[in-house]
Amino acid sequence: MIRFERVTKRYEGAPGSEGDGATAAVDDLSLEAPTGKITVLVGPSGCGKTTTLRMVNRMITPTSGTISIDGRDTASLDVAELRRGIGYVIQAAGLFPHRTVLDNVTTVPRLLGTDKKAARARAMELIERVGLDPAMAGRYPAQLSGGQQQRVGVARALAADPPVMLMDEPFSAVDPVVREQLQNEFLRLQSELGKTILFVTHDIDEAVKLGDQVAVLRVGGVLAQLDSPAKLLAD
Ligand code: ADP
Ligand code: ADP
Repeated sequence: MIRFERVTKRYEGAPGSEGDGATAAVDDLSLEAPTGKITVLVGPSGCGKTTTLRMVNRMITPTSGTISIDGRDTASLDVAELRRGIGYVIQAAGLFPHRTVLDNVTTVPRLLGTDKKAARARAMELIERVGLDPAMAGRYPAQLSGGQQQRVGVARALAADPPVMLMDEPFSAVDPVVREQLQNEFLRLQSELGKTILFVTHDIDEAVKLGDQVAVLRVGGVLAQLDSPAKLLAD
């Protein structure tokens, strides 16, 4: 479980960051993301979703409060060790442009010491499981569609088999038809893998479709936290 306890982030130099009542990017957030579930953070642009996600892998340091994973305070862990256990997928897949699909997926396991043959075998399996034609393994990112690139991004994040996945609008940059395919494939994959996922979106429909649990954020705080996303539509 990922647990946020009274987490606040104020960016230095942001307007009003020194005064009382200033708007923090994330303000006193408490939240639990259960193990093996998809927890969606939904809310408008600027409400602090990306900031929240990036505090988990310590790309951003909270101003106050604690974030723990399975009871271990992330602030007390070695950053490299922390990040080994966390996959990260962003909107623009962010693939290494000069590496093939296969090499994109094997890079992290290779850096972690997995031997080449095993890393490649695992990569090919993941490439298929995210719905890519294995024949694409030798292509370069620029030779792929946006949807295919996002699939590679997901495969790459899964390659080191991290228990936790942070996903920041991973399906937002593709057209609606492809988005729906990606969502469905993602749900199928997650039903097999059971990762602990924090998923950020501004799209309520996506939140309801994907979330086992949904937290609705607004600028300056949490509006509601629902264990049953269907309640969102009822409100
Ligand atoms: P969201 O992901 O919901 O769009 P963000 O976490 O990106 O929200 O941003 C939350 C707030 O923090 C916004 O007001 C944004 O302008 C501000 N912010 C984000 N990053 C920085 C930064 N590096 N420096 C100063 N302010 C920032
Ligand atoms: P490494 O030990 O660094 O993984 P490789 O022999 O796998 O070395 O790769 C060397 C270069 O060949 C890399 O730049 C990579 O992009 C390219 N390459 C590796 N596999 C393929 C492939 N299946 N198709 C096309 N290029 C490849």
